[in-house]
Amino acid sequence: MICWHCKRAAVGACRFCGRGICEDHVQEHPYILELFREGKRVRALVVEDALHCGTCTPRPDPIDLPELEGGEV
Ligand SMILES: [Zn+2]
Ligand SMILES: [Zn+2]
Repeated sequence: MICWHCKRAAVGACRFCGRGICEDHVQEHPYILELFREGKRVRALVVEDALHCGTCTPRPDPIDLPELEGGEV
């Protein structure tokens, strides 16, 4: 795997989009592992320092994709 930015050997892959990232270009971004309900509150289990490529833009919340429901991909 090579870095998406500079084509050097990657140290990891972006948690969000899967691009390879080297140690010079790696960034960190909170990643929501799981949402769960605690009484009336909804809480999130978050990884604070998930690998991030710095190029994609992870959203804090899931989004609806109605155009994918029931149709052919
Ligand atoms: Zn790089
Ligand atoms: Zn990414």
